[in-house]
Amino acid sequence: MAEWPYTTTAWQRLRRLKLSEQPLCETCARRGRRVIAEHVDHIVAISRGGHAFPLTDGLRSLCPSCHSIKTAARERAGGKGVAVKGCDVDGLPLDPEHPFLAGDNPLSGQGAFASGPPGNEKNHLVQDWGV
Ligand SMILES: [Zn+2]
Repeated sequence: MAEWPYTTTAWQRLRRLKLSEQPLCETCARRGRRVIAEHVDHIVAISRGGHAFPLTDGLRSLCPSCHSIKTAARERAGGKGVAVKGCDVDGLPLDPEHPFLAGDNPLSGQGAFASGPPGNEKNHLVQDWGV
């Protein structure tokens, strides 16, 4: 990680700002665990067109373990693309970049579980859960 932009003063400032705003690992927090974050990750990798110095909401605070797992899943050859396995208490994938949550997925977003599979009208009864 000792290459641009990580060697710049601007990145070091941005990293400190993000860790001051979100000092806990965001992935662990979604699992209900409180782990100190040491790494700051670009949500959209620079290699995929992400900005090198995004606003802090374009960054994610991670513990070393979660960062390593995410990097292995997404950026190495043969990675499976899903960095965090499992679902949160609402049944949504823990991985914020999971394909299920992609904008073009007709089942993603609000009411994802309310619509259910075609022909399953029983699921429409829970449409206004407000989750
Ligand atoms: Zn973590």
